[in-house]
Amino acid sequence: MYDLLHRPGEMRERTLQITVPDDMGTDIIAVKAGSTLDVDLRLESLHDGILVSADVSGTASGECVRCLIDIEHPVEVEIQELFAYSHDEAFEYEVQVDTIDLEPVIRDAVVLSLPFQPVCQDDCLGLCPQCGVRLLDNPGHEHEAPVDPRWAALAGLDGLKHEPQEDVADASSGVTEEKR
Ligand SMILES: [Zn+2]
Ligand SMILES: [Zn+2]
Repeated sequence: MYDLLHRPGEMRERTLQITVPDDMGTDIIAVKAGSTLDVDLRLESLHDGILVSADVSGTASGECVRCLIDIEHPVEVEIQELFAYSHDEAFEYEVQVDTIDLEPVIRDAVVLSLPFQPVCQDDCLGLCPQCGVRLLDNPGHEHEAPVDPRWAALAGLDGLKHEPQEDVADASSGVTEEKR
């Protein structure tokens, strides 16, 4: 791009493939490190810097927040950013030592484009709150009505009554053995 610098009116187009250096996104969904982004890049030389336009596409992978299966999410973002020659604070990005660093610009755009709550499909039913099966895989899945809480309480008491009795029996048998 050296031939573009300080030559207003010049323009270059490039197609790049960028290997993502670290995950772009969140713990839930991200364009993973090592995956590829396709970048159609257009560089235009203006009086005050280089105007960068890019179409970025790739694939994010993550997890459905409702049913936790792995999902893939297509990423398509457009970027337009001026990399300024001056160190004026009005410009977020600057031409640094005659190069431009696209990575932060692409990263910001990609991360912003990702869904905050990704789902495998809009009507994902999530997981059964009782047994955890994925409800979309088990249409009509249901459990019998839960046991009446009063009976559940009695069942608990019943269990408590039996356990100490078994302990007593074991202890007494131990005692008789010692006597022999
Ligand atoms: Zn899902
Ligand atoms: Zn269930």
